[in-house]
Amino acid sequence: MSINKTKTVLSQDTLSDDDIVYLLGLTDPEDCALLQQKAFDVTTKYMGNYVYYRGLIEVSNICTAGCRYCGIRRENHCVERYTMKTEEIVKEALDAAKMGYGSICLQAGERRDAKFVDWIEAVLEEIHAKSVSELLPEGLGITLSLGEQTLETYKRWAKAAGTMSLRYLARFETSNVNLFKILHAAHGNHEKVLEHRFKIMENLREAGYQLGTGVMIGIPTQTLEDLCRDIRMYQKLNVDMVGMGPYLLSEGSDLTEYGMMEPDKLIQLSLNMIAVTRIVLKDVNIAAATALQAIRPDGRELGIRYGANVMMPNLTPTKYREGYQLYKNKPGLKDTPASAARVFEKSILRVGREVGWNLTGSSIRWQNRTGITETGDAKRILPDEEVYEEWLEPAATK
Ligand code: SAH
Repeated sequence: MSINKTKTVLSQDTLSDDDIVYLLGLTDPEDCALLQQKAFDVTTKYMGNYVYYRGLIEVSNICTAGCRYCGIRRENHCVERYTMKTEEIVKEALDAAKMGYGSICLQAGERRDAKFVDWIEAVLEEIHAKSVSELLPEGLGITLSLGEQTLETYKRWAKAAGTMSLRYLARFETSNVNLFKILHAAHGNHEKVLEHRFKIMENLREAGYQLGTGVMIGIPTQTLEDLCRDIRMYQKLNVDMVGMGPYLLSEGSDLTEYGMMEPDKLIQLSLNMIAVTRIVLKDVNIAAATALQAIRPDGRELGIRYGANVMMPNLTPTKYREGYQLYKNKPGLKDTPASAARVFEKSILRVGREVGWNLTGSSIRWQNRTGITETGDAKRILPDEEVYEEWLEPAATK
C-alpha cells in the first residue's frame, strides 16, 4: 500500500507540500530505497556523475556570536580558542590542490572586526595567486563560510579571491521564525534575526557569490512541515548550493536539556531531506555534511547515495581539530588531504560515482544562470595504491 503511494508520489513532475511532507516522513526501508533511487537518478541527470571535493579548513574558532546549539559559541568558555597562521592555511590549501581537490572551503566562527576582515582578504589573495596552475587555470574554487558580514566585506573578499568559482555558505538554520529565535538567544550587536539572514543572502548575490544555504535537520520541536517550508525557502532564494546536516548535541551547547533525535531516525530524516531537496531543486550542489558521519561511519557515503554531490573532507591541521567541535563525535579527526582524498574516493566509487578531480565543481544552476561554464575533464593525479602508503607519509606526520 505505502509502496504504491510512494511510487505514485515520486512519479510526478512537481511535488505539493503534502507530497514533500509525506516523503520526508518515510521510514519503511522499501519506501526509503525508492526515494533514494529517485534522488540518485535526478542527481545523475542534472549534475552528472562527479562528486566534487571541497577541502574544509577551519581557520579559527574565535566567535562573537551566541548560537545556542554550537560548540564554539562565544559563551562556551571551555574551548581553547585558536586562529591558524596564514602560512598554515595557504599550505593546507596548496596541499589540497596538489592532491587534485578542485576547491576548498574556509570556515570560522563569526568575527567582523577590521583585523579579521583584512586578514581573510590577504589569505584569499595569496591562495588565489599561488593555486593557479596548469591543472587549475582559474586557481582553486573557494567557498567562504564566515557568517554574517557587511556587503562591503563580502565585496572585498570576492575581489580578493579573484576566482570565478567563488561561493558563500550561510545557512539560515530553520525557516521557522520562533524556532530560529529560540536557537539564537543573544541580544544587541550579536543578535541573529531570520529576516536579516535573508538580507545577507541578497547581499551575497549582489557581491557575486554562488549562494549556498541550508538548515539543521531534527532540531528539537522542528516538524516535517518546517522542513518542507525550508525547501520552499531554498526555491524562493533560488540558491545554487545547499549544505545541511542533522542537528547534534554539543558539549558546549546551551540546549542540552532539549536532547536530540534518536540517531537511527535522525539519519533517515536527514537523508530524506537531502533526497527531497535534490528532487525539488534538481541542478544545485548539495553537500554530504560531515555531521552525517557523526551518527554513522558511512553517513557521508549514504548522503551521496541520496543525492548529494559534494564531499567536504576536513583538512584542518590535527592540532586544531579538538578546538572546532561544533557538536559531539565529529569525525575525521585524523584526516589529511592525502588520506581523505583516498578514503572518500573509495566511498564515491562504491556508490557508482567518480571524483571530479581538479574541477571546481560550480553549481550547474549558477552556470546556467550566468552563462559561465566550467570546462575540462577530471584528471586523477593520486598515485596508485602500492605507492600510496609511502607517498602519504610526509602529510601524515606533519
Ligand atoms: N560561523 C559560521 C560558520 C560556522 S558554523 C556561520 O555561522 O555560518 C557552520 C554550521 O554548523 C552552522 O551553520 C550550523 O548549521 C552547523 N552547526 C553548528 N552547531 C551544530 C550542531 N550542534 N549540530 C549540527 N550542526 C551544527
